Amino acid sequence: MHKQSFTLDDARKLDADDPLAAFRDRFYLPPGKDGKPQIYFCGHSLGLQPKTTAQVIGDELDDWQRLGVEGHFRSRHPWMPYHRFLTEYTAELVGALPTEVVNMNSLTVNLHLMMVSFYRPQGERRKLLIEKGAFPSDRYAAESQVRYHGLNPAKDLLEIAPRDGETTIRDEDLLGIIDQQGEQIALILLPGVQYYTGQVFDMATITEAAHKKGCLAAFDLAHTAGNIPLQLHDWGVDFATWCSYKYLNSGPGSVAGCFVHERHGEDRELPRFAGWWGHDQESRFEMGPEFKPMPGAEGWQLSNPPILALAPVLASLEIFHEAGMGRLREKSLALTGLMEKLLHERLGDRLEILTPDNPQQRGSQLSVRLTGQRNSRDSRREVFDALAALDVICDWREPDVIRAAPVPLYNSHEDVWKFVERLAECL
Ligand SMILES: *Cc1c(COP(=O)(O)O)cnc(C)c1O
Repeated sequence: MHKQSFTLDDARKLDADDPLAAFRDRFYLPPGKDGKPQIYFCGHSLGLQPKTTAQVIGDELDDWQRLGVEGHFRSRHPWMPYHRFLTEYTAELVGALPTEVVNMNSLTVNLHLMMVSFYRPQGERRKLLIEKGAFPSDRYAAESQVRYHGLNPAKDLLEIAPRDGETTIRDEDLLGIIDQQGEQIALILLPGVQYYTGQVFDMATITEAAHKKGCLAAFDLAHTAGNIPLQLHDWGVDFATWCSYKYLNSGPGSVAGCFVHERHGEDRELPRFAGWWGHDQESRFEMGPEFKPMPGAEGWQLSNPPILALAPVLASLEIFHEAGMGRLREKSLALTGLMEKLLHERLGDRLEILTPDNPQQRGSQLSVRLTGQRNSRDSRREVFDALAALDVICDWREPDVIRAAPVPLYNSHEDVWKFVERLAECL
């Protein structure tokens, strides 16, 4: 019998001492087949529902019933300025000034709106730098923006890849490209945390290097917001956008967040696609023909926001404010570190971890590739399916990667221990 250095009891002791343990109870954990909660490690795809969400949405439905159109002004959270109720906590979450953030649209829509303003190829400076393994939507958005400017993606969409035989991009390679080709690059668009490998990009250093060469630096924070602490303002990031349904637990397809650095927010001359909700609020209802953008990120809003989809973002942000990103990060490091340690100890010869082993270079995620005797893709997929049959919910990425996210708000050390045990069982 395998001698275990870390037992279920040890995991339970860590949970008993965990200052954030009580937050688990604020979420609905989907039940498994035995009626007990699933081992849910899919917060990187769809975060779980806070127990407050239904109430927060319900309040808006009630106010709409009671007040009709008057709800714009007289509801408990008047709809007219509703997005403002989210501003303070959003700014806190990503390290921004309140005027630099807004919750609007969805992530890919925001990428396009931002690129309209901040990808402005001119003269020799035409390139858009992304990563080779970018999330497909980001690549489609970037490539279509290049084409939209009449340029050729084969020449002007620059894609940085890991070295042969490696899975993550080295800082030195990235900084090298910026150094060598910076004069030709208009915009750099990278993830904060890479969705496939879980690699954290050094946003501060990349932004600094980009600015030195006169390029703009932007980040897709889909897997980053609510995962690691951010200082977007201090790092000088030009823009960023993120969805709210992954680590931010705001429900499928919920409203996305967007950051525009204050150095751009006041620039009314910037080209942008405009809509009435981005118009100066004092004169918005004069319904005049001339667009006058609001200062700050709000000036990029198009439509009046979907209140029923903003309400769950508010419910979620309240939880993040209460827990605090600092404490969440601490627990995230502990859970992810424990998962890595147990995987190595129990299954070191059966798998490979693609995620960087330096804790500073990863968030709440390990991407695991099964190796060993089971070499065909089919048999590896079988392992994943067997895991799901044991109520362990992770995510499968073609061709052969299991991504598991131990989320500090609702996952426990016990979850991590059980995950590794059950994976061992499946192998
Ligand atoms: C999840 C994710 C998306 C999804 O985009 P939507 O517009 O919200 O559908 C896009 N890009 C990245 C990097 C993601 O992780």
